[in-house]
Amino acid sequence: VQGYSGKTVAVLGLGRSGLATVTALQAGGANVIVWDDSPEAADKANDAGVTLRDLTKQGAFTDVAALITSPGIPHLYPEPHPAIARAMVEGCPVDNDIGLFFRSFATGEWDNFETIPKVIAVTGSNGKSTTSALIYHILEEAGRPTQLAGNIGRGVLDIDEAHDGEVIVLELSSYQTDLARALTPDVAVFTNLSSDHLDRHAGHGGYFAAKRRLFAEGGPDRAVIGVDEPEGNYIANQLSEGPADDRVIRVSSGTKLGGDGWNVFARKGFLSETRKGRQVASIDLRQIAGLPGAHNHQNACAAYAACRSLGIGPRVIEQALHSFKGLPHRSQLIAQRDGVAFVNDSKATNVDSAAKALAAFSKVRWICGGLEKEGGLEALLPAPTVVKAYVIGREAAAFAMKLKGLDVEICGDMKTAVTKAAADAQSGETVLLAPAAASFDQYDSFEKRGDDFAEQVASLS
Ligand code: ADP
Repeated sequence: VQGYSGKTVAVLGLGRSGLATVTALQAGGANVIVWDDSPEAADKANDAGVTLRDLTKQGAFTDVAALITSPGIPHLYPEPHPAIARAMVEGCPVDNDIGLFFRSFATGEWDNFETIPKVIAVTGSNGKSTTSALIYHILEEAGRPTQLAGNIGRGVLDIDEAHDGEVIVLELSSYQTDLARALTPDVAVFTNLSSDHLDRHAGHGGYFAAKRRLFAEGGPDRAVIGVDEPEGNYIANQLSEGPADDRVIRVSSGTKLGGDGWNVFARKGFLSETRKGRQVASIDLRQIAGLPGAHNHQNACAAYAACRSLGIGPRVIEQALHSFKGLPHRSQLIAQRDGVAFVNDSKATNVDSAAKALAAFSKVRWICGGLEKEGGLEALLPAPTVVKAYVIGREAAAFAMKLKGLDVEICGDMKTAVTKAAADAQSGETVLLAPAAASFDQYDSFEKRGDDFAEQVASLS
């Protein structure tokens, strides 16, 4: 990382990204000091060969050029970490690894790169990981060397040396975009804004962050924007000079987009690309096993548009969509037995994403339950695609009680649920794990829960 040679830079947090930041700053000749709340902070600092300084103390920032903070450390809500609060009081700029990454780009001095590669940044409330992974997959299939980083894959400062023509796909959370002091991708993708009311008002679901930082004046060469919510539409209109400006590619799942602009939309299972009022390409998304449901059609449209903006042809993209296996634990097709599909959406930990998953299939044997989140389960009902629910979790009985109007069986553990659902399922139905709950009552993580589901499916006789 360039721009801090001979200057003192503070790093807050010594996790994976913090340590990568230390290394990158040191390589650029900065004098690095660190702070971490954990009792092992001194050991970690020692191992990294940097000085530990209590950044919460008055005067801690007098000689510091910037504070680089780690993801997960609160910078505003519910309240700033004391070190960040101190930096703000003492007038020290706060940044993160994403900001350092782009800052080095802007000056053309990124040590890792011979020439500057293209950067695609993916933001939004939902579908970021799927869209990023899909863009990566399409570009790889198209023969464009690509690296995936940010929230998914590796940290941005861990990216390997990149060469001419390479593409870097970054998945960015709203927290990351909010903090980064430089944010200049070539292509910016905004998937959607959560319809979840709470998310919209508490923190605005990354919308303001994304808009303000990524889509500001002088922003990306090209923007791919989901326009199914008014906020997306607003960003798209603000960015373009007029309806025919192809700096913006508008994306919708459900609405036929018209006009002179550049559009990609999914309707009735078909993706269409139109440009200047003419149809350019059409793809039957219903045949694509790795991307079931309207929400995945939205992801497919966004990824398609991002790759088109780099000049990849529609047929190449269509082929790559067919070979996309989906991300683990997100509407992932695990197995097909006697006409029954087994799908793992263990990542559907809240009501919003579980509802999307349920709507993606026509007849569902639904495995759900676990540690219930705030807000209740009412929003899931009446769940018209559910044939029967098989409830797991320590509080399975209480969870089942809330699924009013559904045929429900209390199973408790995954093995019982999978065995019963598989025995009941008819050809053409889907056994779907979409818990609408956190996993921590029975598992260490949603990944472990999804793995258990896959194992139980594999051991069905
Ligand atoms: P993110 O990275 O934004 O959290 P993921 O791709 O990891 O998104 O998907 C997380 C969950 O959200 C998935 O389990 C899926 O059920 C749901 N989901 C995926 N794509 C979308 C979308 N475009 N709109 C709404 N929900 C989605």
